[in-house]
Amino acid sequence: MIKTPGVYINGVWELGLQPLTVINPSNEQQLAEVAGGDGAAVERATLAARAAFSAWSTTRASERAVVLRTIAEGVEASRERLVFLQASNNGKPLAEAHMDVDDVIATFRYYAELADQLDAGQDCPVALPSEDFVARLRREPCGVVGLIVPWNFPMVTTAWKLAPALAAGCCVVLKPSEVTPLAELELANVIAQAGLPAGVFNLVCGTGIDVGAALAADPLIAKVSFTGSNAVGVQVMQRAAETVKGVSLELGGKSSLLVLEAADLDLAVELACLGGFFNAGQMCSATSRVLVAEALYPDFIARLKCRAEAIRVGDPFTGENEMGALVNQAQYRRVQKHIAAGLEAGARLLCGGARPSALSSGYYISPTVFTDVPLDSALWCDEIFGPVLCVRPVADEAQAVALANDSEFGLVASVVSNDLIAAERVANALEAGLVWINAPQVIFPQTAWGGYKQSSIGRELGPWGLSAFQEIKHVLRAV
Ligand code: NAD
Repeated sequence: MIKTPGVYINGVWELGLQPLTVINPSNEQQLAEVAGGDGAAVERATLAARAAFSAWSTTRASERAVVLRTIAEGVEASRERLVFLQASNNGKPLAEAHMDVDDVIATFRYYAELADQLDAGQDCPVALPSEDFVARLRREPCGVVGLIVPWNFPMVTTAWKLAPALAAGCCVVLKPSEVTPLAELELANVIAQAGLPAGVFNLVCGTGIDVGAALAADPLIAKVSFTGSNAVGVQVMQRAAETVKGVSLELGGKSSLLVLEAADLDLAVELACLGGFFNAGQMCSATSRVLVAEALYPDFIARLKCRAEAIRVGDPFTGENEMGALVNQAQYRRVQKHIAAGLEAGARLLCGGARPSALSSGYYISPTVFTDVPLDSALWCDEIFGPVLCVRPVADEAQAVALANDSEFGLVASVVSNDLIAAERVANALEAGLVWINAPQVIFPQTAWGGYKQSSIGRELGPWGLSAFQEIKHVLRAV
């Protein structure tokens, strides 16, 4: 069993006083004990970050870029360990854990590039309609920031916040999810060796109620960047409001895959499985509603059933299994409750719905597909966060768009069609921050991440992810 400190403050690892039990979801055994921190540790971490801020915020951005590239190299060098921890702690198949590492590296490299451009863009003159004044624009780091992340893509959600925050010149206090802290603790080891001055990066593992809430309330924190559930996002926003902090929120989703009449059916089935079962469906971007043109529907559900039933579920380390376990018992029970409620509401189970019979332990649920799902049921309306798809025929493009947009969320959507004019038209009509056409859920650091309605406040990635950690200052002088 791994035993590890869970607090890193001012460049020193500490044994916190709040032990966290970390489980391997593939076998339900204890994997680690992390000596996590509490509200007092958060206070010390923010003080250390505040003390480091004046020096770090005034370094040349090109120097910060060097550190970001060193972190990217360190992550590559630690790839095998990170993949092992991610697969063990999250139950992700190895191939998916490798993708997470790739994403982290790409994100740190991308923000190193943006940091390199910051020095030249600083103090840029502003055209004024008067010869009596001159003005210049500065973009300055917003201060000490609190980063709170969930368990589904722990390292990736961390990198999307941490890389731009460091590039901007902010000092950070990171709180990993108490469910999956192991890969982030390893990432913190990499960061600790990357040449950052003490106090610039701090980490406090712990529960949301202790550590997360303290971060959201701490008056020294200028901004909280949070990814997680809507219920907790609202609490974070309420706490942050007391000291008028900025907040970025990346929350839930209930996204759709739209299979239009001119779709390639093989591709549509493949994308439905990826959108529903990648990461065992534990994705804010899961396309858990599948809307299929009526003419294609019978053929589509027959092929989807076949493909879903062929997905190999089990031990993430074999290299053969395409889907692993759900992250813990609470999530396993939550998804099972959704499945039971769906059946009670009258939905028809096409396949899956339970743990594969060959597996006697581990939080596994077979790829599950429902049809005839009532539009007012929780199965159709709520985020399930498990390997569960709801498939429905649609009469035409307009009905598909209306059903996709009929949600309190608006994170992403996918469209499948060989009629690219129709696909682009539908993409424009969808209320979502990112729409894929005939593509899996590829994410480039250059394109923004975030959604409409209750899915997000703000955007991550791209230049928007950087400006989320910057203040704008104008200096205006009489000539
Ligand atoms: P969660 O909201 O339970 O927890 C997220 C983080 O908040 C954890 O670190 C947790 O410890 C912390 N937390 C809990 N209570 C807190 C409090 N009172 N104050 C401050 N922090 C607190 O979410 P989760 O179960 O870890 O993750 C699943 C959710 O995350 C899903 O709803 C999913 O849609 C969402 N998510 C969204 C995105 C996105 O980009 N939009 C990405 C990944 C996950």
